[in-house]
Amino acid sequence: MSSFVTHLEAAIDGTRLDHRRLQTLHADRPLVVRYDLDAIRSTVDRARIEAREPTMWRYRELLPVEEKENIVSLGEGMSPLIRAPRLARELGLEELLIKDESQLPTGSFKSRGLSMAVSRAKELGVERLAIPTAGNAGGALAAYAARAGLEAFVFLPADAPCVSVGEAQLLGAHVYRIDGLITDCAAIVAAGKEVMKWFDLSTLKEPYRIEGKKTMGLELAEQLGWRLPDAIFYPTGGGTGLIGMWKAFAELEALGWLEDTKRPRMYACQSATCDPIVRAFDAGERHAEEVQDAQTLASGIRVPRAIGDFMILDAVRESGGAACRAGEEELIHWMERCCELEGISLCPEAGACLSSIAELLRAGKLSADASTVVFNTGAVQKYIELLPPPPPEIKDAAAIDWKQLKAQASRNHSFSSSR
Ligand SMILES: *Cc1c(COP(=O)(O)O)cnc(C)c1O
Repeated sequence: MSSFVTHLEAAIDGTRLDHRRLQTLHADRPLVVRYDLDAIRSTVDRARIEAREPTMWRYRELLPVEEKENIVSLGEGMSPLIRAPRLARELGLEELLIKDESQLPTGSFKSRGLSMAVSRAKELGVERLAIPTAGNAGGALAAYAARAGLEAFVFLPADAPCVSVGEAQLLGAHVYRIDGLITDCAAIVAAGKEVMKWFDLSTLKEPYRIEGKKTMGLELAEQLGWRLPDAIFYPTGGGTGLIGMWKAFAELEALGWLEDTKRPRMYACQSATCDPIVRAFDAGERHAEEVQDAQTLASGIRVPRAIGDFMILDAVRESGGAACRAGEEELIHWMERCCELEGISLCPEAGACLSSIAELLRAGKLSADASTVVFNTGAVQKYIELLPPPPPEIKDAAAIDWKQLKAQASRNHSFSSSR
């Protein structure tokens, strides 16, 4: 192997940095990976990629790992792109596709970024990793660190979903619950660098998690016959996935691999109670102010301040999309409707996307015939706190009272009403 990476580039001012060394930020802002796309074009084509194994590593020429044996993998990627006709009808769309990331290792798309970041960290000689997380990134880091034989430290808000806490512990990480938000966890990880000798894998504080999440955009293009949809709805916290996909589309276009170079409109969806990107978008700003008292049941997008704010906002604006906010009740409502109508385990974060679609359609800002893709970034069963209460127990299994059983079926029908 050996990669096609040429250098790392500072997103804020284009400064070039050496990719063969462990790098973090430049001027306190993120780095992106640049490749020799001409060399990639003459080495591989779409047909060869299509014939490869169904994981994100099928795009290896467009990824930064140098040596194959350094890849730390659990088979992540190539998640299904599922048609959701009943949900589409209820929303008022002609067609809706859901890219279902709930089926990835540890039940969320965080596995893509952490598979890549842990692979590169290992390749560059790191032995001890640390991460601040709202939940899902902690489980994913724990899994890939275990797989790589590296040590992992995970810091989460004390009120993070309990599955994320137990999962990271079970997967062998040192887990700490902090009385505060993800920003407080991030401050601890940053402060401990010297004394604890760990490498900080925070969102966008190293360049490789984006490259993992970029594969969502590569897969989407391939699954649509190397075409892109009209609109993409993405639940946005730190924004790695949105930034990564936008980068993927540019690389695919430069490679000449797209059948049609029309880019999708990117919609960054947030909760109305933690909406820094939406506020900055509405105000016409390139940087977002930190939101105080950030609260939302969609814990993965409970990110009051994003270090890559300008990268998210640039991509959204360049695409002709928008930043949208969803009320808590609405995002839970649409999460439940997707589960009930389609059998897809949709997380509350993706509920914010569905709610934003409903809102934009109502306002006439999205047309019913737009080809629309929603990223379901995680599995709802990781949020035990949001599951409906269990039904009453049947005491005598040998003597079922059918009238009572039927009565219970009608009560259970919509669990939204039972919570
Ligand atoms: C982390 C997370 C997000 C936000 O992802 P970013 O790429 O950091 O914006 C959305 N949904 C879920 C389920 C998450 O875990």
